[in-house]
Amino acid sequence: MLRRRLHNSARALCLVVAVAALSTPGLAARPSVDFDAFIASLWPDAKTAGVSRTTFDAAFAGLKPDLSIPDLDLPGRPKVDNRGQAEFTKTAADYLSKPYLEKLGGQGRAFLKDHEAALKRIEKITGVDRYTLVAIWGRETAYGSYHPPKDAVRMLATLAYTGKRKEKFRVELIAALKMLQMGVPRSDMKSSWAGAMGLTQAMPTEYLKYATDGDGDGKIDIWRSVADALAFTARQLEGKGWARGERWGYEVIVPPRSDCSLEGPPDARPIADWVRMGFRRADGKPFSKSVLQQSAYLMMPGGAYGPAFLAGHNFQVIRLYNTSDLYALFVGNLSDRIRGGGDFVTPWKSFAQPRTVTVHDLQARLKELGYPMDKIDGKIGSNTRKQIGRYEKANGLKIDCWPSEAVLAHAQSQARQ
Ligand code: CA
Repeated sequence: MLRRRLHNSARALCLVVAVAALSTPGLAARPSVDFDAFIASLWPDAKTAGVSRTTFDAAFAGLKPDLSIPDLDLPGRPKVDNRGQAEFTKTAADYLSKPYLEKLGGQGRAFLKDHEAALKRIEKITGVDRYTLVAIWGRETAYGSYHPPKDAVRMLATLAYTGKRKEKFRVELIAALKMLQMGVPRSDMKSSWAGAMGLTQAMPTEYLKYATDGDGDGKIDIWRSVADALAFTARQLEGKGWARGERWGYEVIVPPRSDCSLEGPPDARPIADWVRMGFRRADGKPFSKSVLQQSAYLMMPGGAYGPAFLAGHNFQVIRLYNTSDLYALFVGNLSDRIRGGGDFVTPWKSFAQPRTVTVHDLQARLKELGYPMDKIDGKIGSNTRKQIGRYEKANGLKIDCWPSEAVLAHAQSQARQ
């Protein structure tokens, strides 16, 4: 009951912000509801979560929101704003930078040896392979060499106050307060703008659920202990359904009679079926008998302009850690490199990264034309590429599954269905 009332008052607060935004278009980008009043509204939830008044007051003493960060719901900001996420603003070839992956791969192989005993233990308990764990550590903080500079409580408070996903960050903020209550020093709680912390950059709710003592010294330290951080990551992946013994996926060669419009989870099928359709591993090796039974879907992050992959169950688990095909592919390829593998076989062709607004408008237009677009968000996900491919196929266009001004112009010239 109390929770519902709080929920409603939070809703009302959001509404006030939205109405104020509509009525004052000429003013500087600033929400109208007082930040201090917002902070005060958090107290009942914090108290219910076991946070003391002393901890609560100390956490917010003198705190001001940081309105310079991305993903805020402020007047004057573009409706579709992905600038904070490299996964959606860089081309696949830039994001999956070969020199960077090579460097991280070499370092990762050395760190694998340094932490071998702990990694073997973690692998045995959780089933998550050591290569993936080291790869996530490499992707998130370049093996601890990147130190996010921002104050996590301030970031989470800002995002809960005036972010585009207020409810999510409100929950994370309360979880961060619980971490403070448990004795985690505020000085450790540094993050990127999105509030993730530690060597493997995890959110506070994940910390509360999965953090563990990986090196057996009786303390949990995801900032300084590699064993603690990687045991934590392994438990997260295990909790998200990691399939023991399976790889993230495989680079494949698409046969001429097939195309990129088959991409995406809805067209998942056993790897044996893909092989029957003419798909082959890009490295020329055969799939083992057990792998042939596993289900996988086709994933082509650059549409027809780059390598193709069969993404297995664990690819989707990595996506639950960070929801991006490029992120999961980065971690997958880096884990392969740490295992002894190398670069992608098919190169990325050079192509223009479309503007977010082009992607957004094309998604909206395809939806109007009856294509199943679940999200109109300006992000080039697998369903967006697939539906573009289906549209191109149905209209006799070149099938590249890639958003462009030309496809958008073509779709806009079509009569409504
Ligand atoms: Ca420890």
